[in-house]
Amino acid sequence: MAARLLDGAAIAQEIRAEMRPAVEAFTAQARRPPGIALVLVGNDPASELYVGSKLKSAGENGLRADIERLPESASVDELLRLVDRLNRSDVHDGILVQSPLPDAMGADAERRVFDAIAPEKDVDGFHPVNVGKLVQGRAGLVACTPSGVIEILERSGIRIAGARAVVIGRSDIVGKPMALLLLHRNATVTICHSRTGDLPKVAKDADILVAALGRPAFVTAEFVKPGATVIDVGTSKVTDRTLVERLFAPGTKRHAAFEKRGALTLGDVHPEVEAVAGALTPVPGGVGPLTIAMLLKNTVRAAELRRGAR
Ligand code: NAP
Repeated sequence: MAARLLDGAAIAQEIRAEMRPAVEAFTAQARRPPGIALVLVGNDPASELYVGSKLKSAGENGLRADIERLPESASVDELLRLVDRLNRSDVHDGILVQSPLPDAMGADAERRVFDAIAPEKDVDGFHPVNVGKLVQGRAGLVACTPSGVIEILERSGIRIAGARAVVIGRSDIVGKPMALLLLHRNATVTICHSRTGDLPKVAKDADILVAALGRPAFVTAEFVKPGATVIDVGTSKVTDRTLVERLFAPGTKRHAAFEKRGALTLGDVHPEVEAVAGALTPVPGGVGPLTIAMLLKNTVRAAELRRGAR
């Protein structure tokens, strides 16, 4: 039987609708909307696209959003000065620095910049103070993609407490916070990575399997226990015709989309998993829409917390 597809776009819409009264109440009391500054360095087309959708979504939901641009040639110090100005801004409750930063800024630039964002404005949840609060299970600003995954699970009626959860990927922005959020909801969690031995066997133990590795169609049916919930966080833009044709036969919708655009966005989960899993997030339309919804939710929360702290 085919897996139930978990509709991330509909859940994101639900979250945005629920947020509306809080946005209106804040705006009325503070006499300004909750605000977010989106920092974009350079002209990376994918980053332009991401920042553009965040700007649009914020505006549509009654938030103020401003793009702060720096040229590709900007130094880390210039970026740190911009972050410092935004930390002191009264109208910005959240600051998001779009990654990746230009290579010329150096390997440690992202960490230096994320560390410089005031924790109470860190709507990405990357600052060590917020990561520490997450480890301790204290309320704070939590990374958007993993908290979006929790919303999908909870709102789809998937039991987390007592479940065996396997997270493939241990990055600071997805894998680790994902594992912690599941743990705090009483799942028994295993974290896997590129050195995990016999990954299919470990993954097959999962009632909830989260794939966050960034390897298109890597998770095949042999990784999945029949009936398990599979969350596909991966998004890879694929232009390799051989790979696409191995996954989608000519005449299918996805193949036609590839023919039209010359590229497809693929998740980490192989299409054959749909026949084995009990529930599955599609790519696109699964986890992706939640990331922006959670960013807006974090911005409203940051605004309320900052106002409450006065
Ligand atoms: P990342 O920093 O590259 O981390 C990838 C993780 O996967 C690493 O922990 C790596 O293990 C592990 N991994 C890689 N190859 C593996 C393999 N063959 N077997 C087992 N583990 C393997 O990536 P990320 O930032 O976490 O993102 C992961 C994916 O999610 C990407 O496709 C990204 O585009 C997507 N993403 C989507 C959203 C969204 O809104 N939908 C948001 C964020 C990220 P090691 O640690 O051992 O290297």
